[in-house]
Amino acid sequence: MIPYSRQQIDEDDIGAVVSVLRSDYITQGPAIAKFEQVIAAYCGTRHAVAVSSCTAGLHLACLALGVGPGDTVWTSPISFVASANCARYCGAGVGFVDIDPDTGNLSLQALEVKLAWAAAANALPKALVVVHFAGRVCDMGTIAALCRRHNVRIIEDAAHALGAIYQGRPVGACSFSDVVVFSFHPVKSVTTGEGGALTTNDPALAETLVMLRTHGITRKPELLEAKDPPGWHYEMQQLGYHYRMTDIQAALGISQMHKLDRFVAQRRLLAERYHTMLQGLPLLLPPADPESAWHLYAVRLTEEARIGRRALYDGLRRAGIGVNVHYIPIHLQPYYRRLGFKPGDFPQAERFYERALSIPLYPGLTEEMQDVVIQSLSSLITA
Ligand SMILES: *Cc1c(COP(=O)(O)O)cnc(C)c1O
Repeated sequence: MIPYSRQQIDEDDIGAVVSVLRSDYITQGPAIAKFEQVIAAYCGTRHAVAVSSCTAGLHLACLALGVGPGDTVWTSPISFVASANCARYCGAGVGFVDIDPDTGNLSLQALEVKLAWAAAANALPKALVVVHFAGRVCDMGTIAALCRRHNVRIIEDAAHALGAIYQGRPVGACSFSDVVVFSFHPVKSVTTGEGGALTTNDPALAETLVMLRTHGITRKPELLEAKDPPGWHYEMQQLGYHYRMTDIQAALGISQMHKLDRFVAQRRLLAERYHTMLQGLPLLLPPADPESAWHLYAVRLTEEARIGRRALYDGLRRAGIGVNVHYIPIHLQPYYRRLGFKPGDFPQAERFYERALSIPLYPGLTEEMQDVVIQSLSSLITA
């Protein structure tokens, strides 16, 4: 079986994990801070905060930006459910901005129209969760200009985009957003098993995130409300969560970060190869992009294809090719339908989903394996 994605683990990674297991601290030790420094240095941002998952990070990002009951958060319907759920955890409502079918990213035009409507209707969102679908970076400059005009905060859900570049700087630099959130799930650019991290240039926001990931508790003398407290004193100053990463995970993350650029370069080569070798088939290919992190290679069947998406999916799976579909539009999930969303609400997203298929792409995919994927796909689609 060739999976659609998988982790790339080597002996250095294993050694890094083992050395933490032999050390004094398997959690809340020195590896977390070091991992955070590595991420901040890579992204060129002042602060990085490691957490237990990207989902936890998105939740904390919303909380730290003050999202609460009565607020609304907007995101793209073509994403993993976590991009929207983070608002619901805070008691806020969710809205969606339809996508640009060429890229799968949210449509700038749809965003502009919806913001103008919301401004007139006094229904502006508190924050926008921008998703860099498949690792292709959204036009953050334009998005930031539109949002700034209406005082909408920006969270980048960069679960797909660690290692991608925008205007010469790494995603995570926060040049056009308040906070960026990464995932270290095994299918993402680098892995810690489960894990996530946030980056921000705002020291107060970073302080809040650190406190919220550990129950809302602080021991920092400069933050305590008590005067002249005893040595054991700590204060829970707000309702936080237990969203910490372990040192075991952080050590794996540090080791993986050394290989990030190599992993992304490999993904880019394989994506270029698909781009060349899949020409001429009844497929819409994702536009070439040398700055994308190429988390996914999501093709779409055209009207000319003689096989349906379901039959193609089943046929490839039977042939041992682990294809997948990204994503069932979030607003069509039963939970969101019960909130009032329905088919037809975001037609571009729905059409995109109907025809989409993600084919294998990960650093360990060899050209020989990729050729097998291309062969199987071509023969099924032209049969
Ligand atoms: C993977 C993913 C997440 C969730 O990441 P976890 O680390 O598993 O919580 C969120 N958003 C997007 C777009 C993702 O692909």
